[in-house]
Amino acid sequence: MGLVERDKKVIWHPYTQMQTALPHIPIVSGEGTCLYDEDGNKYIDAVSSWWVNIHGHAHPYIAQKVAEQLTRLEHVIFAGFTHAPAVELAERLLAILPHNQQKVFYSDNGSTAVEVAIKMCLQYWQNVGEPRTKVLAFKNAYHGDTFGAMSVSGRSAFTAAFDTLLFDVDFIELPTKNNLQDLKSQISGIKLNLSCFIFEPLVQGSAGMIMYDADCLDELLAHCREEGILTIADEVFTGFGRTGKPFACDHLQLQPDVMCFSKGITGGTMAFGLTTCTNTIYDAFLSADKLKTLFHGHSYTANPVACAASLASLDLFLNAETSENICRIVASHADFAEKIKHHPKLKDVRQTGTILAMEWDTHGNTSYFSSLRDRLYSYFLNAGIILRPLGNIIYILPPYCITDNELGYIYSTIENALDEI
Ligand SMILES: *Cc1c(COP(=O)(O)O)cnc(C)c1O
Repeated sequence: MGLVERDKKVIWHPYTQMQTALPHIPIVSGEGTCLYDEDGNKYIDAVSSWWVNIHGHAHPYIAQKVAEQLTRLEHVIFAGFTHAPAVELAERLLAILPHNQQKVFYSDNGSTAVEVAIKMCLQYWQNVGEPRTKVLAFKNAYHGDTFGAMSVSGRSAFTAAFDTLLFDVDFIELPTKNNLQDLKSQISGIKLNLSCFIFEPLVQGSAGMIMYDADCLDELLAHCREEGILTIADEVFTGFGRTGKPFACDHLQLQPDVMCFSKGITGGTMAFGLTTCTNTIYDAFLSADKLKTLFHGHSYTANPVACAASLASLDLFLNAETSENICRIVASHADFAEKIKHHPKLKDVRQTGTILAMEWDTHGNTSYFSSLRDRLYSYFLNAGIILRPLGNIIYILPPYCITDNELGYIYSTIENALDEI
């Protein structure tokens, strides 16, 4: 029996209606931007394997560092014990994050990084004797799939089966010059109950690569600060160069109190997540009273192999070559965006850094479940490109090592799709 049939017998895939799913393509290897299947077919990974890969697949430098770590220390309990990769990663990361970020809390993935951030903020207020129990978030936000992360995400078809069980969150629109005053008064009206405001800085990925202004976000953050509301920047997607700068918060004047990271942190090698915070938050948990402890931890907290992968990825990320590649992609996307932005089939073309999104005009029918999505997905797959549309929105979000040739091929295939679909 082939792998596809064996898979179908025993595996339940993520975000997949298994009854109607196309056969899952068995990938056997990867190199640079490309993935190869069992039959030797090549696919350009234009979505960085769900936004995680930044330096290309099976990168030899990361592989070497991971292998070295595996044979030295694969894992150790992180309560009562520590290790060099965890300490070094925290030191090196804090050195490049906004200066107010002073402590690192390790976990497993983006959702857990968000869970930790929310717990830090909620318990912060309890520990300082001024309990505030609500969270503020953006409509259409996406912060992960565990219950806490789902609760602070926008209500949608994806959360519908659980909506009655999700904790109550105050949702606001994305800020624009026009609605800022409104948003501020909404926030002021509920401030006494608001522990924190969680947001995806500059780009709401899962919502459909929705982009918004750094200036407006800054004003909103300033207002939250005035009202004593803690702020959480979820950089799980935007971190590590995606927006053209190392972190999306580098586009802001104000610094958030808490930050969440995952996805690109290991270069896309393995599952890992972390949450950073200010000393003000950290200090509120210091006490002779055991009840003020942050009672949170995962079995694989600060896994040394994941730390080693992250350190190796950071080495590559800080290379001049990576910054040059990021600049090259940003410029290349901008040229292509300019070329197609008036195409009659496109309702919108938008770019933030290495993320380029194109919204197909569906004349009102914009559901994620539209058949257009499936047609676009298959069209690109048949051309050897992995582009996974979010409804009628296609986006390119490549590993930074993508070549100009590969980018050019993706662009021309998109132009063909615009003609043919
Ligand atoms: C992907 C994502 C998450 C969840 O991360 P997982 O590792 O998939 O749990 C959280 N926040 C944002 C902004 C994301 O894009």
